[in-house]
Amino acid sequence: MTQDFETRVIAPGSTIGIMGNGQLGRMAAFCAAELGYKVHVFGPGADSPTEQVCAKATIADYSDLDALRAFANDVDVVTFEFENVPHDSVKLLSELVPVRPGWKCLHLSQNRLREKTFCNDHGIGTAPFEAVRSLADLKAAVAKLGRPSVLKTTEMGYDGKGQVKITDDTDLADAWAQMKDAEAVLEGFISFEREISVIVARGVTGDTACFCPVENVHTNHVLDVTVAPAEIAQSLSKKAEDIAIKLVTAMEFVGLLAVEMFVTTDGDILVNEVAPRPHNSGHWTIDACVTSQFEQFIRAVCGLPLGDPSHHSNARMKNLLGDDIDGWQAILTEPTAKLHLYGKAEAKPGRKMGHVTWVLPKED
Ligand code: AMP
Repeated sequence: MTQDFETRVIAPGSTIGIMGNGQLGRMAAFCAAELGYKVHVFGPGADSPTEQVCAKATIADYSDLDALRAFANDVDVVTFEFENVPHDSVKLLSELVPVRPGWKCLHLSQNRLREKTFCNDHGIGTAPFEAVRSLADLKAAVAKLGRPSVLKTTEMGYDGKGQVKITDDTDLADAWAQMKDAEAVLEGFISFEREISVIVARGVTGDTACFCPVENVHTNHVLDVTVAPAEIAQSLSKKAEDIAIKLVTAMEFVGLLAVEMFVTTDGDILVNEVAPRPHNSGHWTIDACVTSQFEQFIRAVCGLPLGDPSHHSNARMKNLLGDDIDGWQAILTEPTAKLHLYGKAEAKPGRKMGHVTWVLPKED
């Protein structure tokens, strides 16, 4: 039976191509192996966390078209653990092999303006925002949205990089200079009670499965701790899941989408940003859910039935950044702690070296 690229089932024994070679690819590769798949990883840099645990690696730049062509010929499906792959590369891959999620979803999630506009067009709330392409735009946007507000590059920003908080003291010319002429977005400052995220999978037949909302605590703009499930009212939890499902459905997304949201002080939920791949706030699912986010990711991308995302335990996940990894021995002596290390050689300050999940009793 011939199936088109969009709904083809990729059977165990096949090779999954993963663009991006960090810890997300590594943990996805473990689950792919459990289900009988091989992984071929594509990305720059030798001895990467993913390369260390998968069958095959192409070490090349994301825009190396010859390497991409050879990669596409070797794999049965392509997915991403890193979403900022150039559009031309994704397009080329899409002509040769099923690519999940598809380029339109990547294109949307690569740009904050497109992402927020899409949300609002589908009745999903975000911070109020204005596009900023010049100092004059910035002045006009600040006049509209007020201070404090947050100026962010529309593309390639992560973990607070490419972001400036505009306060009463901020010189707007200085703030604009920090964008280095890149397109930016000014967001109204959200007074939030907490930050949560929902990870949702959507399969090739349009079926969806949500992990429960979790609370995320950031330190210096980087995720520090995830508490699962988030301690929020049932009605808010349902609302957050509904938003995530509405988004993946509207995007016709296939794969795993992480949706970061603010719970505002007046009890509303606003979407901050989305990531079309496994997410740091879903690492706890490895140890506390029937199906982990990484297994669900592989299932969705391969067109398999989605697994049960429910949690059998509560959990608290903490990232191990830089020198935190030196505490590995003590962590191993804690009975409820599960240690996950990413195989990175150098513990640079702030670098994600691993995480620990404390598996906690589930309260009914
Ligand atoms: P982001 O890169 O968009 O995830 O932003 C990093 C962090 O900055 C978020 O997790 C929030 O803690 C904070 N932040 C981002 N945007 C806003 C906003 N519009 N209002 C208040 N805080 C924000």
